[in-house]
Amino acid sequence: MLGAGPAGLVAADVLSRVGAQVTVFDHMPSPARKFLMAGRGGLNLTHSEPLDVFLARYGDAAAALAPFLRAFPPQTLRDYYAKLGVDTFVGTSGRVFPKGSKASPLLRALLRKLEAQGVRFEMRHRFEAFGEGGALLLLGATGERVKIAPDAAVFALGGASWPRLGTDGGWASAFNDAGVRTTPLAPANCALHVGWSEHFVAGFEGQPIKTLRLRHGEHIARGDLVVTRRGLEGGPAYALASALRESLARGSAATLYVDLRPDQSNAALAAKLARPREKASLATHLRKTLGLAKIDVALLREASPNGLPQEPEALAARVKDIRLAIIGVAGFERAISTSGGVAFDALDAGLMLKDRPGVFVAGEMLDFDAPTGGYLLQAAFSTGVAAGEAAARFAFSRALP
Ligand SMILES: Cc1cc2nc3c(=O)[nH]c(=O)nc-3n(C[C@H](O)[C@H](O)[C@H](O)COP(=O)(O)OP(=O)(O)OC[C@H]3O[C@@H](n4cnc5c(N)ncnc54)[C@H](O)[C@@H]3O)c2cc1C
Repeated sequence: MLGAGPAGLVAADVLSRVGAQVTVFDHMPSPARKFLMAGRGGLNLTHSEPLDVFLARYGDAAAALAPFLRAFPPQTLRDYYAKLGVDTFVGTSGRVFPKGSKASPLLRALLRKLEAQGVRFEMRHRFEAFGEGGALLLLGATGERVKIAPDAAVFALGGASWPRLGTDGGWASAFNDAGVRTTPLAPANCALHVGWSEHFVAGFEGQPIKTLRLRHGEHIARGDLVVTRRGLEGGPAYALASALRESLARGSAATLYVDLRPDQSNAALAAKLARPREKASLATHLRKTLGLAKIDVALLREASPNGLPQEPEALAARVKDIRLAIIGVAGFERAISTSGGVAFDALDAGLMLKDRPGVFVAGEMLDFDAPTGGYLLQAAFSTGVAAGEAAARFAFSRALP
């Protein structure tokens, strides 16, 4: 097993459960660092929506991933963790979280199981290249060259985001050198950078802006955002990040249009704003008539350096059309996920490389991307199970006389 993230660990479970001798190699000092980081902001393990809706979230990769997600769907992942003693719950948005929302109890439970099943761990071992005759070349803890020739190998080395957690995408050049087709790795689900004023950051860093609608070109996303020191984070920002990155690269305006009241028309908002204001400040009037939160009003002001219009129609139009200049999009350093990876047409139906019998690939190394919402982890677990099962079949069929 190469890679001690969720995909590699669940594959190790499947293999060791059926009696395979499993060693997990990872170049970090401890396993699953990205998984633990994912748990910091509340681990979104999977999603409870109907499976067909769920599958559609993977866009172009939906058809390729469907067999694995159908074989090990969200409810099976929840049952898997329940058996390990970690219950999950469905949040109001339909997202599924472990009780306590942290990754560490899940990881501890899985590691305990692997230990009981005899799985060995070789940390500080970095996969470097494919060698002759199916060998794998690693760099060991003290810089020594290590050559292994397992009956089957499952690669689950992740994407290239948050490289300081171990996922640097360095495997891609080794795979390309070995003639495996990969599509270029690119940051995905990235935060947006906005040149906030010090005043805005001081008042609102870390706070949510709720139920808004974002647009850039023909790309639209709805949901909640969080204000950060550098800009905006959250599902709708991630969804528009690629399009905004392209606009920035082309040198065209990367304007983000924000609608704070997407379910109400300009006319409806203007009618409410036309109610007598009496002695109330504009901020109080906006809050009382439209139910805007303090942060909404601050955002309106932040994006209106020349002041807010006073007339109801113009003010309503501004509430539905705040324009933010995006000055950058986060790169690999802070991206949630990575698009690109090992192409599905390089793999057979059991995730084995067509040109390298006995070498399987799982998790974020595969060429798929998905929005946040539990889709990334579910795909890692489902493909990890599938690769583990196929690797077990392969290894045991070779061992038969
Ligand atoms: C901040 C953050 C929050 C996230 N939140 C969520 C969330 O709530 N829900 C969700 O679904 N997803 C979330 N994700 C994404 C999710 O964590 C990943 O998609 C998932 O961890 C991928 O699992 P994996 O097993 O494929 O790879 P990884 O978890 O990336 O594991 C790969 C392992 O391979 C090791 N490795 C890499 N290269 C080498 C090498 N050359 N030699 C040896 N070892 C190597 C790494 O050290 C690592 O341990 C989040 C990601 C981040 C960064």
